[in-house]
This record gives sequence, structure tokens and C-alpha cells, in this order.
Amino acid sequence: MNITIDVNGTKMEAKKGETVLNVLNDNGIQVPTLCHIKSMFPTGSCRMCVVEDIISDKLITSCSAVAEDGMKILTHSPRVTEARKVIVELLLSNHPDDCLYCVRNGNCELQGLAEELCVTERRIQGRKNKLPIDNSSVSIMRDPEKCILCGRCVRVCEEVMGVACIDFSKRGSRTVVSTAFDKGMNTSSCVNCGQCIMVCPTGALTEQNHFTGIREALTDPSKTVVVQYAPAISVSIAEEFGMEPGIDIAGIMNAALRKIGFDYVFDTSFAADLTIMEESNELIKRINENRNLPLITSCCPAWVKYAEEFVPELLPNISTCKSPQQMAGAIIKSYFAKQKNISKEDIYSVSIMPCTAKKFEAQREEMTNKGISDVDAVLTTREFVKFVKLFGINMHEIESETADSPLGIRTTAGKIFGASGGVAEAAIRTAYYMLTGDELVQFKIPELRGFKGQKETRLKIGDLEIGVAVVNGLANAKKLLDEIKAGRDDIHFIEIMACPGGCVGGGGQPVNMDEKAVKERIKSLYRIDDTESIKVSHKNPDVIILYNEFLGKPLGKKSHELLHTGFKKREVII
Ligand code: SF4
Ligand code: SF4
Ligand code: SF4
Repeated sequence: MNITIDVNGTKMEAKKGETVLNVLNDNGIQVPTLCHIKSMFPTGSCRMCVVEDIISDKLITSCSAVAEDGMKILTHSPRVTEARKVIVELLLSNHPDDCLYCVRNGNCELQGLAEELCVTERRIQGRKNKLPIDNSSVSIMRDPEKCILCGRCVRVCEEVMGVACIDFSKRGSRTVVSTAFDKGMNTSSCVNCGQCIMVCPTGALTEQNHFTGIREALTDPSKTVVVQYAPAISVSIAEEFGMEPGIDIAGIMNAALRKIGFDYVFDTSFAADLTIMEESNELIKRINENRNLPLITSCCPAWVKYAEEFVPELLPNISTCKSPQQMAGAIIKSYFAKQKNISKEDIYSVSIMPCTAKKFEAQREEMTNKGISDVDAVLTTREFVKFVKLFGINMHEIESETADSPLGIRTTAGKIFGASGGVAEAAIRTAYYMLTGDELVQFKIPELRGFKGQKETRLKIGDLEIGVAVVNGLANAKKLLDEIKAGRDDIHFIEIMACPGGCVGGGGQPVNMDEKAVKERIKSLYRIDDTESIKVSHKNPDVIILYNEFLGKPLGKKSHELLHTGFKKREVII
């Protein structure tokens, strides 16, 4: 049943039970929020979203107030804007005057609100807490002095990721958001997903920066500096350069990276194809031997760390394949180095990833070969955008270029890795061919596509019927894994991605709370799949050459040495 409310003198329809904030947003009225996260239960704790309820003559929090028939609301009356201004002034009263040096300068919700609400002087002086920066994690950096205690990170970490490694501690003016016993993030159960950064309204949470090492390598004449970029990147940055959100600008990126000074530019989607060759063979082998099923993907380093900490009993189920980032790194420092006659010690290998956990993955001991890392430095998508600007590249003025060969050709199966469900779909396409000798008539598996947290389907491959599940968000993964641990045995293959929507919604992507942009990126990946002709990894000509010339066969000795790894139970404080 619909009800009617009066907003600023205009009648608006609302559904029974809907919050006032929802009604306002649906009708194009913007009300600022700081603690609120769309799709999560409102807490009303920051009070930024207050509106004036004329009948009760009170200020109410629109995120938690339910719309009632006949309600009369003012959203921007002098009383309302003054209340919001005082909230911002109170938040700024003990905030560092650091905007010019802050990573979020120009993209900070607190700074934006101060400007919007005409805060031009310090009317309230608060005691500034002196709190140390937590630099201990290889992925995430915390600056508690910039924290405004909105609680968004705490909720995402617990409700979306199921990790809960940060929470409020202490009381009153000494309240902070912190890890257990206020220890460094590196000793906590943090899985480095970066989703807390994505929701943080300020510069209190950021990624660890790898700029210095990369710049040094770029100016070192003894180094060959190579770069690879993940499938999601080229569809995630157009809007950062004033282009239409979601469009694929891979060609422009290739050209920009060469202008920056990288000697060779590779598309990680190639290594995604390689991952599929190994992983689909691993799936077939395990089904034939009926062991360690379901096979669970290992591409997402946040998920892998979660498994090491929270579900070590399922580690034998996780694929031994390295992720595409690490496979590309390993092939660059072996096959490619040999081809170009460059010593692997002289290669500095950079990757651009939508993910903060990739910084953690790149430095794992398991990802080194005889003491040399597969990948030396990782830039998130956000950092890459800054890098392009730092080097003064005008993305509108450069001509598209192709990625470098021999690792330059990708299929659309490798490209759809960027979306939740893409890895599973690509693996099924190749597993079907390996098992039957025929190509699938219909490559699309619609049941595994889309933004839902958990998707499942059953597929007939020759005489086999296999169950496939796809989950994104580790809290969703936990629910499915609980079923598996309780004996559910109709699922043979599970794709797990920590971030909502998969890598396109990764914690290293441009900070943007808009789900629409993530959906545009997913659409773009599937548009590429619809329009290009090579849709299966086993038909990637460069992958075929790589096996013929160097690796031998999937799961062979050389593949095991370079492309596979293992994971162990990990102890953390909590
Ligand atoms: S977090 Fe925002 S308000 Fe605080 S210093 Fe950084 S840009 Fe300025
Ligand atoms: S990076 Fe992920 S796991 Fe770590 S604190 Fe942030 S949300 Fe939690
Ligand atoms: S770290 Fe950021 S998201 Fe977390 S409570 Fe502080 S301001 Fe909010």
C-alpha cells in the first residue's frame, strides 16, 4: 500500500515501511549521510541526515525514520542546515588540518560537506587526539586521527566480509576504531580486501603506496620494467578521465603505460586464460579421482587468506593454481625473460589490480621463485589513475595501442574474470571441451551472471552432471561453506570472490559508493564477450604457443613449478 508525504511543500508517494531517506533519494533530493550504507540496516548514529518533521517540530534522522502517511518534512530549512553544519564543525574540531597532504583531498566526504555547508572558520576547538598511524599491513594503512567514527568500515568488515577484525574500542572522547588489543593490522585477521577503504568517507583508511619503488625502477637503466593490468581495470577508469562510465579503454591504457615509460605492457587476461587451462584440468582430475571436491577457486587473495584463517579444514579443496597476477608474473620472469634474453633479476614487474589484497599476495613467500618475487609492485586502480595524472598523460589525445606479444592475446573468457561468475563460466567452457571434445553450443551461463551474492546452477557435461556455485562477499561464502562442511555434496566447483560483484567492485577501485558504476563495468565485460570471436581460453593462440614451446601440458612438471602453489593454516590474534 502506498502512502503520501509532503516534502518541502510537494506531495510524494512512498511505500509503507520505506524510510524517509529512501523516499527523498527516489525523488531526486540529496540529503547528506556519513554513517549510512545503502542496503544495510540504518543506525542513525552520525545524524547528518536529519530533516525537520513539521508536525512533531523535531529533527529526525531520515535514514532510520519510517515514512508515515501525512508526514510533513523540510529537508533544507535553516534549522536543518545549521544542525548539519554544527555536526561537521564538531567533527572538524579535533580533526587534523591536513587536507593538502591527504590522499583523499578533493574526494573526501567530510571535506565536501564542509564546503557544501559553508564551514569557513573554526568555531569549535576540540582536543586533538594524538594517535599513531598503523603502517603494519602490506595492503591497508590506518590513520586514526582522520577517523570520524562513522562505523562504516566496522559494518562492512563484519556484515559483508564476515571478518570483523576492527571495532570501536575505548569510551567517550577517547573512542577509536581499532583492531583487537590495538595491535597492528598485520597481526589481525584482516584479509586485505580494502572494502573498508571503499566505504570510508575520509582519509582514515587507504592502501599502502608502491609509487616510490616503481618510479625508481622506471628511471633505472639496468631494469626492464614490465606492467600487467587485470581484466577489470580497462572498464573501470573511463569516468576518472571524463569518459562514459564502463567503456573499455584497454587500447588507450596500453599507449598511456608506454608513455609513462614501461618497457612492456601485458594484459593479465592472458594469464586468466592460462589459469583456466590449469584449473579446468584440475577440476576434471579431481572429479575423475573423486577427491577434494568441491574444487574452490584461488584467484582472490582476500578469500585465500580468509580460508587460511577461518576454514583451514577446506584448504585441500582450494585450487593449487596461482592467481592470474602471479601466473603472469611467473611467466614474465621465466618464458618471456628467456625469449628476450633478459636476466630475471633485471626485470621489475608491476601489476595494476582492482584489489588491495593483491599487494599482500605479491609479497607472499609462496609467490617467489628461488628468492625472486613473481611480481615486485602492485598499483590499485585508484593509484594507476593518479600515476597517469602524475605523468601528465592526456587520455583523450592518445591513440590506442595493442598489448605486447607474446603474452598479449586474450580471449573473452579471460576478460570476464573481472565479474563475479566469470571465472566459473570460463572454466566450464574449457572443461566442457576437455571432457567432450566439442565446444558448448551456448557459451553464456546466465544463472552464474549478475550481482547476486550467491548463484548456483547444475550443468550436464557428457555423462557428468556437475553443480557450480558462485559467491561474492565473504559473509556469503561463509554461509555456503558451512553447508559444505555440514555434508552438502551436490556442488563440484565453487568460485569465491571477496568483493561485491567480483573484481569490478574490488577494494582498489575508484572510491565510489555507486552500485550503478559497478553494474556498468559488468555489462561492459559481457558486451566484450558478446562481440569478440575467441570466447574460450583453450583457443588463445598465445596460450597454445606457450604450452607447445615452454610449459608442455597443463598440470605438467613445468606448470607445477611455476604456476601452482599451496596454502597453510594461518594463526592470527583474532
Ligand atoms: S580526511 Fe578529508 S578532511 Fe581530513 S584531512 Fe583528509 S581530505 Fe581533509
Ligand atoms: S581490509 Fe577487509 S578485512 Fe581488512 S579491515 Fe578492511 S574490510 Fe576488514
Ligand atoms: S576508519 Fe573511516 S569508515 Fe571507519 S569509522 Fe573511521 S571514518 Fe568511518
